Amino acid sequence: MTGSIQQIGFADGANVPALGLGTWHMGEDSARARDEIAALRTGIDLGMTLIDTAEMYASGGAEDITGAAIEGRRDEVFLVSKVLPYNASREGTVAACEASLKRLGTDRIDLYLLHWPGRHALEETIAGFEDLLAAGKILRWGVSNFDTDLMDSLTGLPGGENCAANQVLYNLGTRGIEYDLKPWMDARSMPVMAYCPLDEGRLLKNPDLAGMAGRLGVTPAQLAIAFLLSREGVIPIPKSSNPERVRENRAAADIKLTGAQLAELDRMFPPPRSAQPLQMV
Ligand code: NDP
Repeated sequence: MTGSIQQIGFADGANVPALGLGTWHMGEDSARARDEIAALRTGIDLGMTLIDTAEMYASGGAEDITGAAIEGRRDEVFLVSKVLPYNASREGTVAACEASLKRLGTDRIDLYLLHWPGRHALEETIAGFEDLLAAGKILRWGVSNFDTDLMDSLTGLPGGENCAANQVLYNLGTRGIEYDLKPWMDARSMPVMAYCPLDEGRLLKNPDLAGMAGRLGVTPAQLAIAFLLSREGVIPIPKSSNPERVRENRAAADIKLTGAQLAELDRMFPPPRSAQPLQMV
């Protein structure tokens, strides 16, 4: 590790490291809990102090793991969690958040997201978020898996302009958001949280990516993450339950890709030439 991780600013002035930690599939097997907690603590030690979790993951189990990992060091961390769409009525959002706070062992979530658009009216969810903001239980809110049209609708609603972030599928193999959603968000100083930055591990088997990584003396995971970090306003949140891999992923923040290297990646993984439906997992 050489330098510190670059920072990304939210519209309200809060700054976070551009590289965070995912938690999907953590908390599913108690035999793995120790490694998962160790992996998250390693990430925090290395400056990856943004942790992304959700009430959905292992039905609260990932929030339990996150709570254990941040015990005694809550103030070092920027916590992101998510409410399930089925729970996202006004009262349901508040109740879901309170349950998440309990599992996380904290009194506040830094960024609380609607996990994906669902059956409850967005006005209801916004009202729940605003109740939680007023009570100090969340410090800002946002959404996940919202395409450009939905972002337009959301931000046109009363209170909707307070949306702080959108978390979407974004990696070298899935670049559709670069055409419209990302420019829309950039224009509003709204960070893009990039989920599945390694395409859940699948990208690492790509022979072209592996070949280029080999030539550069880095790993495929590092190259995939460095690509995302080269984009303005993007926060990749790779998940690993392995402290050594967390170290490897952290070192990606020290890689500065040249224009020629980025052009080579564009040839392997072409950027979109037209609008595409938002992809999600
Ligand atoms: P990722 O693209 O982060 O890939 C995770 C997989 O890659 C795991 O199997 C992990 O295994 C492996 N891995 C991680 N680092 C390395 C490495 N250096 N070398 C080799 N393998 C590696 O997928 P995720 O789906 O986990 O996405 C990241 C996060 O985004 C999630 O954890 C979650 O927090 C969030 N997310 C949000 C969604 C949403 O709808 N908002 C949807 C999906 C994800 P191992 O743990 O064994 O290292």
